[in-house]
Amino acid sequence: MKALLIVDMQNDFMPQGALGVAHADELIQVINSLIPKFKLVIASLDWHPEDHVSFAANHRGKKVGETIEVDGQEQILWPIHCVKDTFGAQLVHGLNKEGIHKNIYKGVDKKIDSYSAFFDNRRLNETGLGKYLKDHKVTDIYLAGVATDYCVLYSAFDAIDLGFSVHLITDACKAINLHPKDEEHAWEAIAAKGGSIVHSSDV
Ligand SMILES: [Zn+2]
Repeated sequence: MKALLIVDMQNDFMPQGALGVAHADELIQVINSLIPKFKLVIASLDWHPEDHVSFAANHRGKKVGETIEVDGQEQILWPIHCVKDTFGAQLVHGLNKEGIHKNIYKGVDKKIDSYSAFFDNRRLNETGLGKYLKDHKVTDIYLAGVATDYCVLYSAFDAIDLGFSVHLITDACKAINLHPKDEEHAWEAIAAKGGSIVHSSDV
């Protein structure tokens, strides 16, 4: 059983959004064309409280892009984004929401960030996605969405660790590229861990 995991296709990650990913809006058509090819389609949503630890604005004197330490773990500071129940957190207009069977919310705890759609960044809490997929007898997960170098990457790692076969669809994902080549490095890291890198025409 194959499932499509659409990562964080939310307004704030679109080019005009608070944490805009260049050309992310171009993914809408690609992803919509993929949805009918899957019996099970899941969307993850970054879904933060206003006082979330990942927002630079919540740390006096800190700027976006700086790194702080939270409970012994590095945390990159981001602009305020995907505050739950706001426009910025909604799935982007034009995405075929009727084709999505389940939404998974992550980053809901103010004290810890969650790049992966499966676990928070310290793996203390699960989102429920792993169990949901296993309950639905999913063996293969195809990844689409944003950002290749963060939430898609860490979702891929966790999916592989949980025993799923993982396939990243290159033209259905866009990267932030905080550092040049972050996208290529993400593909390499996923492949090195046993995932496959595919094109939408191969799905
Ligand atoms: Zn976030």
